[in-house]
Amino acid sequence: MSAARPASRLRGSLLDVAVVGGGMVGAAAALALARAGFSTALLEARPPAPWRAEDEVDLRVVGLAPSSVALLDSLDVWASIRERRAASYARMHVWDARSGAAIEFDATAEGRAWLGWIAENSLVQWTLWQALEAAGVQRHCPAQVTGFQAHADRITLDLAGDGLSNPESRIPNPGLSARLLVAADGAGSPLRQLAGLETHGHDYGQRGVVAHVATERPHQHTAWQRFLPGGPLALLPLADGRSSIVWSLPEAEAQRVLALDDAAFCAELGVASDFRLGPVLSTTRRAAFPLKLQLADRYQAERLVLLGDAAHAVHPLAGQGVNLGLRDVAELRDTLVAARAAGRDIAAPHVLRRYARRRHSADTLDARGFDALARIYAWQAPPLVAARALGVRLVDRLAPLKRRLAAHAAGR
Ligand SMILES: Cc1cc2nc3c(=O)[nH]c(=O)nc-3n(C[C@H](O)[C@H](O)[C@H](O)COP(=O)(O)OP(=O)(O)OC[C@H]3O[C@@H](n4cnc5c(N)ncnc54)[C@H](O)[C@@H]3O)c2cc1C
Repeated sequence: MSAARPASRLRGSLLDVAVVGGGMVGAAAALALARAGFSTALLEARPPAPWRAEDEVDLRVVGLAPSSVALLDSLDVWASIRERRAASYARMHVWDARSGAAIEFDATAEGRAWLGWIAENSLVQWTLWQALEAAGVQRHCPAQVTGFQAHADRITLDLAGDGLSNPESRIPNPGLSARLLVAADGAGSPLRQLAGLETHGHDYGQRGVVAHVATERPHQHTAWQRFLPGGPLALLPLADGRSSIVWSLPEAEAQRVLALDDAAFCAELGVASDFRLGPVLSTTRRAAFPLKLQLADRYQAERLVLLGDAAHAVHPLAGQGVNLGLRDVAELRDTLVAARAAGRDIAAPHVLRRYARRRHSADTLDARGFDALARIYAWQAPPLVAARALGVRLVDRLAPLKRRLAAHAAGR
């Protein structure tokens, strides 16, 4: 990939779609749209790190729901992700530290072999990137989009650095304008801000501490989650038998556990996990990510739509951030395919409104649901803890309700 060049505005051939942001969601969007026959470019500011089997498992992993696996499979990348390094989980066990009330989801009750898969973010992103060239996606990396101008029939991009992954196409400068601009540029989305799209939400005042740990007992292909007074602790199965943790903690507590030496960290984690998998024997290095709820008020502007975390950032307690983003991808692809079949401009306001309305209401419902769960599990007053325990035990016994919850999480 070539080095960045100074800011320039590129003009030239008109593409159908320019996707900005090559994280998991943007890369999946570019691939899905190219496979659906749209001429597509992907612009990414930072070259993705190559994934190598001999490297330590990426600290960032993602729980992929069946809807995400189905999309990745339809893009012909799932088999490669699964075979390289991914772990399925067949059960999910969620319990409350204060009351002990638990709820368990089992894939066999759904007539399935698994509920979801845990895969490394870098592996998913890298595998998608590997497929882009063959699908005919123009890749511009590193290339930072610094502005855009919407016109009657196109949107023109301003770039700082126009590195093209195909060096031969550097001369002459091919130019870049598209009918539609897809902003998949993450929670801080510069494009959302440039488009004047406001967000609402709040900071959880928590950080998600992540690490991979070896425990005395194996994970049993189960995703474990214990709700503690400071936030949830998830232990997610890895392919090598270890577990990947996401430990949501108040800011100061997160800083404290990050500073512990490995032995002290393992000891505290053992207690926090209620020794469900026995003592924690070893840990990798740790990292922490700020947690917030952030929803864009609108997903659409003139010739522009938001996708993934640019549109919605949610608490990781339900492990659904990327899954929502990949549902955005499927909806956008289907909407644009339908518009093209009807002979419409794919970026006409009513076309984009259809995508935006559908995904905005679905994402809002989910994000509010996760937020409500975070709040309910933060209750510490004894009567509220008792009410929560009653509710959890009731849901666990109501098979039809549990099935509906599982189907919703699966994206069905
Ligand atoms: C601790 C933690 C645990 C999580 N666990 C899960 C889980 O189990 N399951 C799940 O589904 N989700 C999970 N998530 C959420 C998930 O990680 C995010 O939803 C996901 O990474 C968002 O992907 P994205 O592609 O939308 O954005 P990003 O990954 O943020 O990608 C945005 C990209 O845009 C690029 N970019 C930004 N600005 C520009 C610009 N101007 N020009 C060009 N490029 C630009 C950036 O370089 C970046 O590569 C978790 C999150 C956290 C913090």
